[in-house]
Amino acid sequence: MNTPPPSVAWHAQSPESVLEYLKTSIKGLSASEVAQRLAADGPNELKETKVINLWRLFLGQFSSLIVWILIVAGFIAGLLGEWVDSIAILAIVVLNSVIGFYQEFNAEKAIAALKKMTAPSAKVWRDGHVVAIPAAEVVTGDVLEIEDGDLAAADARLLEASSLRCIESSLTGESEAVEKKVVTLDKADVPLGDRENMVFAGTSVASGTAKAVVVATGMQTEMGRIAGLLGEATLEEAGEGTPLQHKLAAFGRLLVWISLGIVGLLFVLGLLRGMKFFELFLTSVSLAVAAVPEGLPAIVTISLALGVRRMSHRRALVRKLPAVETLGSTSVICTDKTGTLTVGEMTARAFYVAGQSFEITGEGYGPDGKVLMDGKAPEAAHAASLLELGNVLVGGNNSHLQQVAGQWKVIGDPTEGALLSAGGKAGGDKERADKEQPRHHEIPFDSDRKRHTVVRLMPDKLLRAFVNGAPDKLLALCTHVLGSDGVRPITDADRNAISAENSTLAGKAMRVLGAAYRDLEPTPPESLTADQVERELVFVGLTGLVDPPRPEVKDAVSRCLAAGIRVVMITGDHPQTAMAIAHELGIATGDNLAVSGIELEKMSDDELKQRAPQIAVYARVTAAHKLRIIRAWKANDAVVAMTGDGVNDAPAIKGADIGIAMGRGGTEVTKQASDMIITDDNFATIVAAVEEGRGIYDNIRKTLQYLLAGNTGELLLMMACILSGLPMPLLPIHLLWINLVTDGLPALCLAVDPIDADVMTRAPRPRNERITSGSFLGMMFFTGVLTAGVSFAVFLYGLRTETVELARTHAFATLVFAELFRSFGVRSETKTVWQMGFVTNIRLLLVVAVSFIIQITSHHSRFIADLFRGATMDLSDCIMLTAVAAIPLVLLEIIKVFRSAASSRTRGSPSSSPCTT
Ligand code: ADP
Ligand code: MG
Repeated sequence: MNTPPPSVAWHAQSPESVLEYLKTSIKGLSASEVAQRLAADGPNELKETKVINLWRLFLGQFSSLIVWILIVAGFIAGLLGEWVDSIAILAIVVLNSVIGFYQEFNAEKAIAALKKMTAPSAKVWRDGHVVAIPAAEVVTGDVLEIEDGDLAAADARLLEASSLRCIESSLTGESEAVEKKVVTLDKADVPLGDRENMVFAGTSVASGTAKAVVVATGMQTEMGRIAGLLGEATLEEAGEGTPLQHKLAAFGRLLVWISLGIVGLLFVLGLLRGMKFFELFLTSVSLAVAAVPEGLPAIVTISLALGVRRMSHRRALVRKLPAVETLGSTSVICTDKTGTLTVGEMTARAFYVAGQSFEITGEGYGPDGKVLMDGKAPEAAHAASLLELGNVLVGGNNSHLQQVAGQWKVIGDPTEGALLSAGGKAGGDKERADKEQPRHHEIPFDSDRKRHTVVRLMPDKLLRAFVNGAPDKLLALCTHVLGSDGVRPITDADRNAISAENSTLAGKAMRVLGAAYRDLEPTPPESLTADQVERELVFVGLTGLVDPPRPEVKDAVSRCLAAGIRVVMITGDHPQTAMAIAHELGIATGDNLAVSGIELEKMSDDELKQRAPQIAVYARVTAAHKLRIIRAWKANDAVVAMTGDGVNDAPAIKGADIGIAMGRGGTEVTKQASDMIITDDNFATIVAAVEEGRGIYDNIRKTLQYLLAGNTGELLLMMACILSGLPMPLLPIHLLWINLVTDGLPALCLAVDPIDADVMTRAPRPRNERITSGSFLGMMFFTGVLTAGVSFAVFLYGLRTETVELARTHAFATLVFAELFRSFGVRSETKTVWQMGFVTNIRLLLVVAVSFIIQITSHHSRFIADLFRGATMDLSDCIMLTAVAAIPLVLLEIIKVFRSAASSRTRGSPSSSPCTT
């Protein structure tokens, strides 16, 4: 279809004429029509400047100085007739860039796939049904269903709207929510901010619901035009590199200069010793290549990208790469209760009405089940007051119950589903209510008011407001109560009795809801605001709902404790309900406190900071409190992860170190503000993600340690020989081989090492710990000394007893074997290779085995020996050298055993660290 010219003033057209113009209807488009339009107009996306560009990726491999030095050296060697060196060097350059290219390509692909998974979605009418689709598949003429928390997927003209308010700051700069209505404007020439019958792509819905027909998609939208003007997408910066990548890049540059300095020094020394210029030049270049960890950035990218992919299999979608690093240092997880710690499936178990308690039987949301009084059916007098309660429960309800494959399911909010089912058991009838008492107005539930009101037009032409919500808050708004003999003014005794019953039910971990109503004179919906309606209510009764904890959460909580991570529950529920569940799950122990939103209001920021470490549960909180809780923990130097689902949670999600959005229950706005989305809304998934985050960090660290210690060893060996006037122990071809094969391949396997089971038994690493800490550098140097030491010793011995060629061959083999051995040891800083097991990283085992075989055959075959400029040696030599080469590993392992014995004596378990008390 032809995209209408941008000059069409949709806001000045009636909804009917817009629908007609776009050849669509209020029931949306058909699938075939959509396919045509999508093909004609393209996907609903802003043109991104950053697409995977294979050429750029490949050329990027040649961006380092070292590679160019190598290329030049290769050509010089060729000019001088050193064919073997020349071809070997150039082959290594090509191989290096092909491997690097392939890996980066894979990493980019993994990240692009993830971006797709976390892309926004939209609800549209297709073939007469509402379906959720990726926002990119929206076409002009689609009819959008919009509700609070959504991001508008495209520019659209409103067809229906109720209390719709949008935040258009991304477009107009106006941060206040603006009201939207279905009116037709009489002027075409109206600024964007005043087009009150339009919603615009990229803006968010603060409240209300609406239906709107899409008039422009992709680059045709107002947002697209701005993006077009700027020449690139402005919605979200691509996020080039993570903090760790930046730090490592800086560290790498430092290493380049240090190694070039050392190599330069050796070069000068060699010249003074009268070595041949060209030989020295090639050796220096190779040494520089060996010393500089040029593969480092690629390895970090691969570790992160593959980690992100693993996490997506565990139902955690990372939206921002730096989050992976931060996850590993998480020390506090602040989590929602309902649906995250609990299954989020409510069942009503108790009623309280007119001073009398009742039990409710039956499982799930189905209609089977009875209301019992002391185990018996209630008498007529009680049945009448139960009916009143039932009427409020179904009257003030938005949910639907539906039987799918024999199972009753809720369409809508689970809390309301349970109230609807219970209301039915008490005698209420939703279908009849909808017929006889048409809905007149609604004041939607929000987690700050904690109640929900539906106003209906009653048969007697009066209005009645049905209110369901948090009892403590509701009670404060009531002036009357339904007693056993009808409605009467509420007394203090009534309030006390109701509160006491509320406490009793909450103490049994039940979510308690109060029901109330109010009769009103006929009034137009516009003037029925929350303040106007929700007062002078008649209190009817209480309903107690159970929502069992998710079975896997208790274990996940104890894993957090073992890992030195605090779990803090944040909920809109009653403190007693929250505390009962917190105790059940092990989140709260004897001396932990529950703090309510009201108490929180009274605390100063300073006081909250002081007390935060003792508080396990925050109850009856509003979204604004979440931000204060985050700040308090951050002031205590914690790294805080925070979950959220509603629109109001977006600021807290942005404010947290790790903002986690709910994949199922979460709104689009929260998802787009988050660092990570958990697709099953499950607390255990957060813990799994933290575990992955720690594992990834460990892998990067061990890979770095392996590469750098290896390079240090090579530098030290060469230095020792040049300084003591000996011949070169390693030729350029040796250095290049070690760099690419002996170090390069195992490093790749280490970067994707399976996560060790003990990552969740350590305390979290401090917020600003440097990956290249003092102990890291110490270990790197020490290891370098050991490996250089053994091959230096072998070289010296060889020089005494054999030819230089054989001595070199032995020194080379020893260094290679020592490196290969070490790749097993470096996998854990605390566990020995036996404890880790050899078969836990099959890839590494294979690479090492193949390297060994190549090495050993090279020593038997004259051809390969020539390539390596060495001598052949026999099997007994090989065995001897293998034994010598094992010395560094053995020493390092012995040190591990002593160190872990010492630290377990002094440190104890991490759960005794101050953060977890
Ligand atoms: P949570 O943090 O556990 O998800 P919510 O903010 O959803 O808490 O709910 C807080 C309180 O608001 C509940 O304890 C309940 O009293 C009340 N409430 C929750 N959902 C509804 C609803 N759909 N209608 C009326 N009241 C509700
Ligand atoms: Mg909730």
